[in-house]
Amino acid sequence: MEMNNKILIVEDEASLAEILKQYLEQAGYEVEILSEGRHAVERILDVGPALVVLDLMLPGKDGLTICREVRAKSEVPIIMETAKVEEIDRLLGLELGADDYLCKPFSPRELVARVRAILRRSLPKDGPESVDPHRLELDSDTWKVQVGGQPVDLTRREFQLLEALHRRPGRVFSRAQLLDLVFPDDAAVIDRTIDSHIKNIRQKVKSVTGDWDPIRSVYGVGYAFEA
Ligand code: CA
Repeated sequence: MEMNNKILIVEDEASLAEILKQYLEQAGYEVEILSEGRHAVERILDVGPALVVLDLMLPGKDGLTICREVRAKSEVPIIMETAKVEEIDRLLGLELGADDYLCKPFSPRELVARVRAILRRSLPKDGPESVDPHRLELDSDTWKVQVGGQPVDLTRREFQLLEALHRRPGRVFSRAQLLDLVFPDDAAVIDRTIDSHIKNIRQKVKSVTGDWDPIRSVYGVGYAFEA
């Protein structure tokens, strides 16, 4: 099967778009730049890229609208760029369906790493699953967790938190969203509670796997399950 290596960058800052293009091309991707939003949706659906890098503030049509319109018709992974970290929280709340968020300024290397991670995830898995030492199994009837066949002893809340992240791999959740999902009835729980539960989950998973950490911290935002 032919690998789709095409990345579409929708970014009106020409110098930034050009740098990102160079880095992505060096990493083996084919890159097309759109410098405004007006025909972005049509172009994305037409080209069918492996992934879209989408700026939020664009002339013609904003990234938010583009993301929504593309999502209505396509599951193509979308990385959203924003200029403010506070904005990411608001965007998450809108459930746009973007796969990841990057706050400007970010390094082109960071973008390449995110692109790779997302595309790795969307590749069809081959080979028997049982050989994967990091296969995570969550049984919500028994609250039991296994990583690569080995039991991990999580508390009920840790289980719920991991399950919420795991259900939407790659999707970034803010702490507030995780609080709503995992502790909807508990007003006493605060954002930092999420951090300490995440810390415990990581420690317990690592105690079984050595150093594997399935949870990615998204600076200033929250967490995502990354496997
Ligand atoms: Ca812009």
